[in-house]
Amino acid sequence: MKIICIGQNYRKHNQELGNEDPLLPVVFLKPDSSLLRKNSPFYIPDFSREIHFETELVVRIDRLGKNISPKFAHRYYSEIGLGIDFTARDLQRSLRAEGKPWEIAKSFDNSAVVGKFLPVARFKDVQSIEFSLKKNGEIVQTGSAEDMIFSIADLISYISGFFTLKTGDLIFTGTPAGVGAVAVGDHLEGFIYDERLFHLNIK
Ligand code: ZN
Repeated sequence: MKIICIGQNYRKHNQELGNEDPLLPVVFLKPDSSLLRKNSPFYIPDFSREIHFETELVVRIDRLGKNISPKFAHRYYSEIGLGIDFTARDLQRSLRAEGKPWEIAKSFDNSAVVGKFLPVARFKDVQSIEFSLKKNGEIVQTGSAEDMIFSIADLISYISGFFTLKTGDLIFTGTPAGVGAVAVGDHLEGFIYDERLFHLNIK
């Protein structure tokens, strides 16, 4: 399986990081070794002093597809969940300043937190799902799929023009504003509406 991630997909997040809104989806990959499952703890790696959480809706592909048109994209997934795209922001910043790919700042071991998935059928409209992250019991980030620059359907269509999508592939759909740093001892909990889909300790 592969993990496909979208960057800069929320206007206010782009403003907080000083990025222009992209004209096309910004796509990068994480390897399967980046997956952190089943509420396992996250250990802060020694190559970064600034690990940020990015809370994101995650779509799980359940059908083989290529060159999918946006209007048929809904046929390629039946579950949606929530995850964290952990980012070594300091590393990303220095790599970007040098014009180099920032893969290692995004795709290191355990950088892709994935929680429980919910059937899409439970939601009237996936493109209006609201989600949030609590750190130590306080809400630190909230988002709504409504605010995505490129919709889930547009993302599936765009991505599938380059990569064949396969059952089990995950798409991280980008983070809203409110990203922030984690420290040893923090406890993170991710919610879609009031339902907690993951929780983990930072070590
Ligand atoms: Zn992200």
